[in-house]
Amino acid sequence: MSLILAIDQGTTSTRAIAFEVRDKTLSPVAVSQIELGQHFPRSGWVEHDAAEIWTATLQTCREVVRKAGGVARFAAVGLTNQRETAVLWDAVTGEPLHRAIVWQDRRTADLTTRLIAEGREPAVQAATGLILDPYFSATKFAWLLDAVPGARERAVRGEVRLGTIDSWLIWKLTGGESHVTDASNASRTALMDLRTVEWRDDLCALFDVPRAALPGIRPCAGVMGNTDPALFGRALPIAGSAGDQQAALIGHGALNPGDAKITYGTGAFLMANVGAAPVASTRRLLGALAYQAERRTAYALEGSIFSAGSAIQWLRDGAKMISESRQSEAMAQGLTDNGGVYLVPGFTGLGAPWWEPEARGTVVGLTRDSGPAHFVRAALEALAYQTRDLLDALAADGAPPLKTLKVDGGVTANSFAMQFVADICEVEVERPAFQEMTALGAARLAALGAGLLADLEARPTEAPACWKPRMAAAERERLLSGWRRAVKAAIIAAPDRAQEPGG
Ligand code: ADP
Repeated sequence: MSLILAIDQGTTSTRAIAFEVRDKTLSPVAVSQIELGQHFPRSGWVEHDAAEIWTATLQTCREVVRKAGGVARFAAVGLTNQRETAVLWDAVTGEPLHRAIVWQDRRTADLTTRLIAEGREPAVQAATGLILDPYFSATKFAWLLDAVPGARERAVRGEVRLGTIDSWLIWKLTGGESHVTDASNASRTALMDLRTVEWRDDLCALFDVPRAALPGIRPCAGVMGNTDPALFGRALPIAGSAGDQQAALIGHGALNPGDAKITYGTGAFLMANVGAAPVASTRRLLGALAYQAERRTAYALEGSIFSAGSAIQWLRDGAKMISESRQSEAMAQGLTDNGGVYLVPGFTGLGAPWWEPEARGTVVGLTRDSGPAHFVRAALEALAYQTRDLLDALAADGAPPLKTLKVDGGVTANSFAMQFVADICEVEVERPAFQEMTALGAARLAALGAGLLADLEARPTEAPACWKPRMAAAERERLLSGWRRAVKAAIIAAPDRAQEPGG
């Protein structure tokens, strides 16, 4: 019994991966994946079918158990999931009462705007680390309770359940025995006190979410329930769970203050470990719980870049300056420098630390010498400048200085971009050979929770790729001042926010 069944329930797919635990290392031995249907019933609305998520989870788990040689070889289940997505289900029938509202969904913007206008944000931020935004689960829970007739009254009586995807899956996996969530997922609802790691009655009242319908909060490692024996032929303990970004942090082994990871996919997600006490951000980074395990709680600061790989997608599919993403590396290398051209990829607004939702993509510095290669190079360089802005915000918030920046995601295949990140951010960049950090983190938590590992310390199977800073300081400063002028231009060009309703 040395295998862990890791479930990775993501926004676009559901996956199961079997990991073998041996000598403190975890190696993948089998994988199964099913794509997930996306529903867009209105502009700004995004839904998933929770029943479909459950069926896909069961199917991928059963396939992996079979491929890995049967359930007898498994010691435990670990879980990681898309965060914030809200599910409402019937405690008696076990059926979802509405489609799940996905984290990207903006339908509760009016409610958060009203709460901001009422001056509620500082208290919410002080308690939870989060800003008031439709992103987080609380307003989504409230919307579901309003939309389903009688749901709020039934919630008070304990007849319906609310939870994020982890809670929904644990409830289904345990045959309705356990209604729990882990501390990292709970920290993204806007209902949990970041210090006490408990639901807050005042926040439940503010968002009108009855506490009786919420799951119990558990540490990220430790047994949260046992799977229904009918599902896999034998009960397995669910021994670890964390939200996707936190699981990736653990997968990278970023366990100490000053450790940070950034995932460069379509967007980019930075999570920096700040240690045993939460840090209140003055730069609109988000305070988060990193994980709770081995009787300690670690905290993090988070920041996101809205457009990272999507800028490369745009060069390929929109501007048609490249035909494949990987061409971008050679094109950028082919220039000796950026020729003074900067691209601010504000396609969907600018995230932390600028928070300019109305900003749009902006290119500055074009001359008669500029060509497609300058656009490509500027898009790749922008990854590094945006990362630097996040790291500067972290430093300004008093986060511990970074040791190395651990990276994963599709864009990290680009060595030019990774070297440029090291140069502009003045930090060593490290990319692990095995890229499935999210599933690995969930497996490691479960291995700890099931007693197969003594701690979360990681020993990678293969050496990581490393990029060390080597750019002269004067050059870096020259480039950064060009970038800052470009950001200013993007912000000046944005429509006036004062004209926006509620702006
Ligand atoms: P997600 O999980 O958000 O779908 P992935 O981690 O799969 O994203 O990364 C996909 C992104 O990586 C795409 O936006 C793509 O443009 C970008 N990408 C892939 N290969 C490269 C490359 N060699 N250079 C730059 N960007 C790349």
